[in-house]
Order: sequence, then structure tokens, then C-alpha cells
Amino acid sequence: PLRCSGDATLTKERTLAMIKPDGLVGNHTNFIQNTILASGFTILNQITLQLDQDTAKGFYAEHSSRTFFPNLINYITSGPVLIMVLEKVNAVSDWRSLIGPTDASKAKVTHPHSIRAMCGVNLERNCVHGSDSIKSAAREISFFFKKTNSAGENVSEHDEL
Ligand code: GDP
Ligand code: MG
Repeated sequence: PLRCSGDATLTKERTLAMIKPDGLVGNHTNFIQNTILASGFTILNQITLQLDQDTAKGFYAEHSSRTFFPNLINYITSGPVLIMVLEKVNAVSDWRSLIGPTDASKAKVTHPHSIRAMCGVNLERNCVHGSDSIKSAAREISFFFKKTNSAGENVSEHDEL
């Protein structure tokens, strides 16, 4: 393959995307997945899950001491979510840009073409999740999709990766 000094920046990354319950209920799934594909991401894996309380609390553990935590857990367990592993160059940061700011009501003003602006409602009901760093992405992907072991055997609850 061609090599040049900028090679390292062309390494593909993976990030975790989730269509939250309001996104599924609101029939935004096709729009969001079309936007993902049109933006150059590959969807490596996906699964629809109804999160239980413990799984939701584990996924959002970093927010466990926040006052909004109980509301967040109620929201994210209020219906099924669609969880996807996305891959492309700069996937983590590009997916965060595509979804826009956390507060969907503010996003409608400042980032009107973002997914949260178009499909979300407010600070809580913002329709999609995206990993906030490469480290978070690794944790979140293995939280839902466990890796193959050193012998190449699938040790995952929810298939490959
Ligand atoms: P994100 O990384 O942009 O998703 O935002 P955070 O990691 O800060 O928060 C996680 C999720 O918790 C957000 O996407 C919202 O669904 C929800 N959330 C964040 N802040 C608040 C808040 O102040 N109140 C409520 N009710 N929900 C919030
Ligand atoms: Mg976050």
C-alpha cells in the first residue's frame, strides 16, 4: 500500500452509536441510518435491545452521581434502543459532530442540520448517543459487543467484533 507521513491519521476508528427510545418511537431510524451511511460510516454491527435498569446504570455509570441520573435511566429504559458500531476514519469525533450538542432544543438553533436538532426534543430526549472519546468508544463497544478471544473464538453475548 501507499505510505506517506500522514498515514497514521488515516487509521480507521470505531465508535458506539445508539438510537434512543424516542428515536425509535419517532420513526427516525431510517433517516438516521441513511445519514450515517451517506456520511461515510460503515455499520459493523447492530442490535436492538430493551435495556434493563442494571444495564442502563452500567452504561451510564459516569453519570451515577448526577441529579438527572434517575430520569436518564427511566428514559433510556422506556423502550428499545438500537445500538450500532460505526467505523470510519475519525469516527468518534465525526459522529459527535453529526449528532450535535447534547441539548436538542439548543441544537435546533445553533446546529439545525444536526441529528439531535432534527430528531430530538430537549436536553434529555435527544434521540441519539455517541461515544465522547476513543477511550469511551472502546469501553462502550465492549460493553455491548464483546471481542473475540486470542484463539479467534467468539466470546460475545451479541456476536462478532
Ligand atoms: P452526551 O454525551 O451529549 O450524550 O451528554 P452527557 O454524557 O452529558 O449525558 C448523557 C445523556 O444524559 C444525554 O445525552 C441526555 O440524554 C441526558 N442528560 C444530560 N444532561 C441532562 C440533564 O441535565 N437533565 C436530564 N434530564 N438529562 C440529561
Ligand atoms: Mg456523554
